[in-house]
Amino acid sequence: MTYKRKKYHRGDTHLKKGWRTKRRVKDLDEIDEDLKEENLNGLINQEVDLDKPGAAQYYCIHCARYFINETALDAHFTTKVHKRRLKALEIEPYSIEESLRAAGQGSYIEPRKRKIETVTKNTINAESNIEMAVESKRRKSD
Ligand SMILES: [Zn+2]
Repeated sequence: MTYKRKKYHRGDTHLKKGWRTKRRVKDLDEIDEDLKEENLNGLINQEVDLDKPGAAQYYCIHCARYFINETALDAHFTTKVHKRRLKALEIEPYSIEESLRAAGQGSYIEPRKRKIETVTKNTINAESNIEMAVESKRRKSD
């Protein structure tokens, strides 16, 4: 008897990869939602969660990934994956309004480009420190 079993699915792991859910992270439009100011602070300064890597203290908001420590997070910020992600986030996500415009309702508006910068605890704290300084100055002058 000949060995008839054909290996039809050999070498298609690269196709399966897209369907894997183990390492699946948020989609770009969800991340866009996260980058809004009201959600930003809650994600960067998360509560200690021991089930998450690094107790959820080292989070890259752009890639929706947790890191184990500050070194790993900083190293991640310099990688290609992260930079590519920042680039991808520069263009505003596809919206229902845009699809309507494409279908002939309303006129075409070019998707806007924005400048995305890596958000870390430090940048957020720096901002809130400035706010606090402004606030206290205002109080003194009153
Ligand atoms: Zn990242």
